[in-house]
Amino acid sequence: AMRAHKGWEAQWSSPEPRKEYDVIIIGGGGHGLGAAYYLAKEHGITNIAVLEKGWLGGGNTGRNTTIIRSNYLYEESMHIYEHSMKLWEGLSQDLNYNVMYSPRGVMMLSHNVHDQQSFKRHIHANRLYGIDNEWLTPEQAKAFCPPLDISGSARYPINGAALQRRGGTARHDAVAWGFARAASDRGVHIIQNCEVTGIQRGPDGRVTGVDTNRGFIGAKKIGVSAAGHTTVVMQMAGVRVPLQSSPLQALVSEPLKPIFPCVVMSNTVHAYISQSDKGELVIGAGTDQYNSYSQTGGLQIITHTLDAICELFPMFRRVKMMRSWGGIVDNTPDRSAIQSKTPVPGLYVNCGWGTGGFKATPGSANLFAHLIARDEPHKFNAGLNLDRFRTGRLIDEAAAAAVAH
Ligand code: FAD
Repeated sequence: AMRAHKGWEAQWSSPEPRKEYDVIIIGGGGHGLGAAYYLAKEHGITNIAVLEKGWLGGGNTGRNTTIIRSNYLYEESMHIYEHSMKLWEGLSQDLNYNVMYSPRGVMMLSHNVHDQQSFKRHIHANRLYGIDNEWLTPEQAKAFCPPLDISGSARYPINGAALQRRGGTARHDAVAWGFARAASDRGVHIIQNCEVTGIQRGPDGRVTGVDTNRGFIGAKKIGVSAAGHTTVVMQMAGVRVPLQSSPLQALVSEPLKPIFPCVVMSNTVHAYISQSDKGELVIGAGTDQYNSYSQTGGLQIITHTLDAICELFPMFRRVKMMRSWGGIVDNTPDRSAIQSKTPVPGLYVNCGWGTGGFKATPGSANLFAHLIARDEPHKFNAGLNLDRFRTGRLIDEAAAAAVAH
């Protein structure tokens, strides 16, 4: 039907693959496309291909609930998430593509003394670093988010909230498309329906290229940015990565008039909610408890999430849900990401963003490009190396949040 429209220009070109590239990025999600863009823009490397087995943004990039924030506890995390936040603030201008970044505020509800202590610890750490994060009383929380029930008789009463005002949301597929168009404009080859099935190495162990369903494509360097399928891809080069892949689900309601002004997260009750510009309530669930690559999840997980949403916001009890889906999230043992060189020369990996890497997209892509171009990390991603699982120098955001993460 779109063909009937005249004058539509393809946003990115779809060239035939060259015989060889300086850099091949495996995975056309936001992270991979962004890395290609920053390699071209900031490091002058333009002989690049992004190989995507399906369609751009068809992985977690187009399946997530788009919560953006940078209020993590540890310095290594604050480095990368705040770097990302600063890039979000100028991303639409930089890409000349409206990614609909909306800093409407992310409010994390505190339900008990433990939450309160943990959130205040985060607030102090964030403010020392220069990241905005503030404590709200229940009354202040309600003033910021009027649908909130702060009565003592609520099923899960709240005793306060942590608010990051610069946090918010962005339009997920615009992020993929914006990076794709901007990378393509700088000469990057974007090749969809191209599945990597093998990684080839020379006699010295260095990567030489990839096998794909479109034949062998040579590469001097390979960056893997394959989220839930990272272990599968890395196995092709004989590298084991400490990741578990499992489904994470989300769902949206029928469209409503604007009613919900910010993002609310309750880690304790396990529900995340915001309202999209189309009016749908966007609701995120907790991770399914089994490993899988199926991109669907158990019904009981999302019904449990809706129980929690209805307890927190009784006014939504009769709203109808329209769609639900799942993505495959790649979780590390410490729930922090990996951005690292690997034991294979020329092979770099960006993964482990798990349930929370959309917010990291521009920052992660920017620093992954630095790692690939210079063969050494930037100070902001140096802590995210693979080595930490051997040395024990973990960045334990899971323990810091003290919830299923
Ligand atoms: P992806 O977008 O998954 O891209 C990886 C790509 O690699 C895929 O397109 C895949 O097809 C491709 N690929 C895999 N194997 C191969 C191969 N062999 N050959 C070629 N291509 C291959 N994060 C937040 O910050 N905030 C949130 O609110 C949030 N909510 C979420 C809700 C859900 C339901 C889910 C599933 C995730 C959520 N996340 C959230 C996490 C976030 O979506 C991810 O961390 C982030 O989008 C990962 O981006 P990516 O580009 O690394 O991965």
